[in-house]
Amino acid sequence: MLEIDNIVCRYGKVDAVKGVSLKVRKGELVTIIGANGAGKSSTLKAISGLLPPSSGTIRFEGEDITRASAQRILSMGIAHCPEGRRVFPQMTIQENLEIGAYRRKDKAGIKSDMERMFGTFTRLAERRNQMAGTLSGGEQQMLAICRALMSRPKLALFDEPSLGLAPNFVEKTLEIIRQVRADGATVLMVEQNAYAALDMCDRAYLYESGSLALEGTGKDMIDDPHVRKAYLGA
Ligand code: ATP
Repeated sequence: MLEIDNIVCRYGKVDAVKGVSLKVRKGELVTIIGANGAGKSSTLKAISGLLPPSSGTIRFEGEDITRASAQRILSMGIAHCPEGRRVFPQMTIQENLEIGAYRRKDKAGIKSDMERMFGTFTRLAERRNQMAGTLSGGEQQMLAICRALMSRPKLALFDEPSLGLAPNFVEKTLEIIRQVRADGATVLMVEQNAYAALDMCDRAYLYESGSLALEGTGKDMIDDPHVRKAYLGA
């Protein structure tokens, strides 16, 4: 579904991604792990059109999207939920979710997706008519994830979805990502919670200093001595 071939991403003179190739197949949950500054977020930005690569190619469902606009990439079914909470603070929780679904016409589907999210995140349900800006940071982050999912993306990109969340919210957030995938979406996520990410993914890529250091199934990565020592604290 997604094929990245040898991309280089730069911020001025800094090479953040130095010739990375990776693949995500339809229906897979793929994770990228690695230290801070390894180029994980830059890769997601390259896919969604926020940081077009200076060389290499990105193809989605066979189409070259390397230089496509962020708007076009979104309309093709790729939703990017960036790091940090990005909600509309002056709009209600429900309105934030409705905005996520603005391209959809299936009213019944929108309603049932929203109710399912409210069922999982009862804090959001209780406060659905309050301004999003009144939520705690962790709750805003969950809302941002739910909003991205309301577009029913073919491919969802999550950047550190559990960062800064209290432990029970981490579990809920990862649960909703598993659910999205069970519903047929394909997921590529960057996650600092390496064990949880490797445990729930089909395949994983390890980044080190802008390059790929290792790839394999989640289980292979968990069993790899270097990954265990450097990223799993074992
Ligand atoms: P993190 O988990 O800290 O976000 P990351 O693996 O996602 O790490 P990137 O955010 O992709 O890494 O950053 C890769 C490199 O690019 C780093 O050296 C970083 O300092 C640099 N970088 C990131 N964003 C910018 C920017 N806006 N301007 C200049 N350099 C940047």
